[in-house]
Amino acid sequence: MQKIQQLINGKFDHSEATEMIEVTNPANNQVIAHLPVSTENEIERAIACAKEAFLTWKKVPVSERARVMLRYQHLLKAHHDEIATILSKETGKTFEDAKGDVWRGIEVVEQAANIASMMMGETVENVATDIDTYSMIQPLGVCLGITPFNFPAMIPLWMFPMAIAAGNTFVLKPSEQDPATPMRLAELFMQAGAPEGVLNVVHGGKDQVNHLLEHPDIKAVSFVGSVPVGQHIYRTATQNMKRAQCFAGAKNHSVIMPDANKSKVLNNLVGASVGAAGQRCMAISVAVFVGDSANWIPELATKIAEVKPGLWDDKDAGFGPLISPQAKARVLDLIAQGKAQGASCLVDGSEFTVEGYEQGNWIGPTVFAGVTADMRIYQEEIFGPVLCCMQVDTLEEAIELVNANPFGNGTSIFTSSGAAARNYQSNVEVGQVGINVPIPVPLPFFSFTGWKNSFYGDLHAYGKQAIRFYTETKTITARWFDDETDSGPNMTINLR
Ligand code: NAD
Repeated sequence: MQKIQQLINGKFDHSEATEMIEVTNPANNQVIAHLPVSTENEIERAIACAKEAFLTWKKVPVSERARVMLRYQHLLKAHHDEIATILSKETGKTFEDAKGDVWRGIEVVEQAANIASMMMGETVENVATDIDTYSMIQPLGVCLGITPFNFPAMIPLWMFPMAIAAGNTFVLKPSEQDPATPMRLAELFMQAGAPEGVLNVVHGGKDQVNHLLEHPDIKAVSFVGSVPVGQHIYRTATQNMKRAQCFAGAKNHSVIMPDANKSKVLNNLVGASVGAAGQRCMAISVAVFVGDSANWIPELATKIAEVKPGLWDDKDAGFGPLISPQAKARVLDLIAQGKAQGASCLVDGSEFTVEGYEQGNWIGPTVFAGVTADMRIYQEEIFGPVLCCMQVDTLEEAIELVNANPFGNGTSIFTSSGAAARNYQSNVEVGQVGINVPIPVPLPFFSFTGWKNSFYGDLHAYGKQAIRFYTETKTITARWFDDETDSGPNMTINLR
């Protein structure tokens, strides 16, 4: 049985913990690894050595820090299939989807290798006579990352490469449900030449996170996960006078105009709704059909019903199991609620299972039509392979519906009208908008910009915003005297 290690001060070891979490294969719920919960002493040690490492790491030339990222990117690419296999085994994701999870993280590492241009300050010469003002940005110190189960490669890679490239050191607390993937990422990071203590990884759940959040030496907190935990983490971090960015739950709508290209719409919605078993924060969970496009719902349901879940290495599988029996029970409860509240269940995946893996957390693709805004399946994040179809008469009504929803992570519109697309992009209150693109996750030279209840904080993940999140700006106003003239005291606030 594999026992997962932790990383403290450059050493991978097994925690002295007596408390263990079982890591299971979601396809059959067999235990595949034991995860020791890091002890208080170990967490203290991780923070202390990150603090110590910061003193030297912040002075390492920016191009040297960039080179660590270049070597890391090379190693991640060389081990792409191997990491994806580890990831598939502990999440149940299909191999190709797992490769995508790793790839979207590699792209952030590529961006982190551009760190020098992102660390540039600003200069204005002669802000007053012979006086110049310039700014520089400097790292904060020890930063903390708390990550969810659903992207165990991509989301840790949203965080530590950007923070560390900017000159910070980092403590990562990955999801306890799939910790082997982030540990492999950490091993390769050390192999890329990261000095001891620059990245540390500790394990656990609520208690370990709270210990980290309350520690005075943690300067900034990045979190991705569910709404209640995100709210708790944002409140606790800011109460402890830390900056925080917390990415939380979602309910993403796709608006389908009657002038859209029907076959493109249907094909795009299949993968965007039930891909990864709907366990993506940018999954399309609500399809809003405007006017006559509602006639396409039965055909969409037929296409979605054709998607077969299966094992991670089954090339014909469209997606895998849910992460845990608790997740499955929650999704089944919501499907039952949908039926009880009067939605019409066109495709019902409640009874789905895979032969020989009946103990797994399987749910088949599920499609509801006639969903209304008062139903629980509309109001709650389902995080399962369930698409809710709704109908409205006009684009304005669709915008009103989306804007009334408390979440604002992502949305998309399918149309052939530039005017409709422009109206939507201008007026929808959601942070990431796709136009004929179902899941508009920005590449890392932009930032991941969820709004409303999908994000607490102001500066977002990766891109320029991440560098601003992980740094302080220092502004210097300088004058160099080259004469001995006595100009007398200046008793005003003005520069002269
Ligand atoms: P989760 O909130 O249960 O766990 C996330 C992290 O918080 C884990 O590391 C976990 O150990 C820790 N944690 C759990 N309970 C805690 C508590 N009470 N106190 C402190 N820490 C705690 O989330 P999950 O189930 O792993 O992930 C799924 C959720 O993540 C979904 O809601 C999804 O929408 C969201 N998500 C959001 C984004 C985004 O960018 N907005 C991206 C991916 C996932």
